[in-house]
Amino acid sequence: MNNEMNITFKSISANEAFARISVAAFVSSLDPTLEEINEIKTVVSEAVTNAIIHGYEENPHQTIAITCTLSEDNLTVIIEDFGLGINNIDLAKQPLYTSKPELERSGMGFTIMENFMDKVEIHSVPDEGTKVTMVK
Ligand code: ATP
Ligand code: MG
Repeated sequence: MNNEMNITFKSISANEAFARISVAAFVSSLDPTLEEINEIKTVVSEAVTNAIIHGYEENPHQTIAITCTLSEDNLTVIIEDFGLGINNIDLAKQPLYTSKPELERSGMGFTIMENFMDKVEIHSVPDEGTKVTMVK
């Protein structure tokens, strides 16, 4: 059955769990395996954490938007921030690349998203924000 949900929430790190659980609850109608649920939760967590830490540099007064669409057996998850954006997307996608080594990031977020989802598209404009679209 086709279905869609939208949520927006503040860029507070506590909302990372809210986002992960909300998306997991939404996809439960697809009857996913435990492994699939865990993969979906992980990619949501990675993208929301990126929005908070990189997009908004931990400013808690900004907004993150998630749209999830279910069509037949496909799930599309869009996670969007309106923050700093990414200058070099190809570089950002490289395994182990991080612009914040001082925060002990490992630079694996996008690599994990690409491994767990069938398709990952990053659209980003410096000083406008970043939109990550993932399909499974
Ligand atoms: P990890 O995810 O392993 O903790 P990381 O966040 O640095 O480390 P990725 O998630 O792969 O690694 O992201 C790579 C880089 O892309 C980041 O270091 C950052 O420079 C940039 N980036 C990712 N998401 C955003 C975003 N929403 N806004 C601005 N920059 C971003
Ligand atoms: Mg990351």
